[in-house]
Amino acid sequence: MRSFVYEALPMRVVFGPGALGSLRAETERLGLQRVLVLCTPGQRALADRAAALLAERAVGVFAEARMHVPVTTVAAAARAARAAEADGCAAVGGGSTVGLAKALALRHGLAVVAVPTTYAGSEMTPIWGLTENARKQTGRDRAVLPRTVLYDPELTRALPVPVSVTSGLNAMAHAVEALYAPDGSPVVAAMAEQGVRDLAVALPAIADRPDDLDARAAALQGAWLCGACLGATTMGLHHKLCHVLGGLLDLPHAETHAVMLPYVAAFDLPAAPEARAALARALGADDPAAALACLAERLGAPRTLRGLGVRHEDLGRVADEVLAAPYANPRPVGRAELDELLERAWSGT
Ligand code: NAD
Repeated sequence: MRSFVYEALPMRVVFGPGALGSLRAETERLGLQRVLVLCTPGQRALADRAAALLAERAVGVFAEARMHVPVTTVAAAARAARAAEADGCAAVGGGSTVGLAKALALRHGLAVVAVPTTYAGSEMTPIWGLTENARKQTGRDRAVLPRTVLYDPELTRALPVPVSVTSGLNAMAHAVEALYAPDGSPVVAAMAEQGVRDLAVALPAIADRPDDLDARAAALQGAWLCGACLGATTMGLHHKLCHVLGGLLDLPHAETHAVMLPYVAAFDLPAAPEARAALARALGADDPAAALACLAERLGAPRTLRGLGVRHEDLGRVADEVLAAPYANPRPVGRAELDELLERAWSGT
């Protein structure tokens, strides 16, 4: 009989079309009086809408969130928060914007309300990241958890199909690795299986009809469940590889996950029969790794490292760094296996 530990994370989730409309009430519930709205430059209009909904509780919009949370951006946002005497922030956007909010929580104690508009899932995890001098440092701290998360599928209708697809596959990767994580549990397994099922049905529908609200809601629900899996467990080879590829070769985050997922699944699942069975049920396929590859192909996702611009001669450096620090994985990974896996992911075999 298996033993396990499960620790629920204390977050309130408000889910549904129009959920953004409860932003003011939700900040009030938390006792926040002065809220700084955060977004990327491209999501300024939505952030302005959020600020208008907050009315007198909004103290400004900081629209300079960017990928990988540079410390200079955090410092600028902290200056804006201090000048406005903010006691909280509302992150309206994807993982980059939520990442900035987490950094403000970590370093400056601001309470966070998150309004995710992609499927990355960061809003469900205590994982923070900060980039300084081209090095990304990450850690876990409960202080960065959003107090409340508003999932509004309406806000994802304009998420371009390629970003929807790659961020959806990024979310699935959290669930796949949670299914064989050393600190998994039946709760996590149930969330992971349902999260993969939701996304596997929703992503093709979104690719066909991007403004299908039911499909958008199903994808967002899947992203929530997959993000919760990431927050609850220790990730393995897939996340390690993507972290190294992103850091060393400056590859785009979600695209790298989309490329690597079927290859790592094909490598790891034979050593993780329960995870394989759960994914087979979720994907409705006997061979889940092949099904993930088919899904990525059907969705037009990037399929090779070569296609992402990786040079063949860089693969050795990636393998060196992956092997340099240990991480949890269901199947032992030696140099030869890793070289072969990277070769396949590079060339698409
Ligand atoms: P992102 O936040 O960088 O967004 C990508 C682009 O899409 C941005 O230009 C953004 O403005 C735009 N966008 C977002 N939502 C939109 C919408 N609804 N409509 C139109 N445009 C929209 O990308 P992401 O994939 O969400 O996040 C990636 C980042 O999140 C990475 O830095 C990654 O490390 C981090 N992340 C962290 C965790 C964690 O637990 N800490 C988990 C997953 C991802």
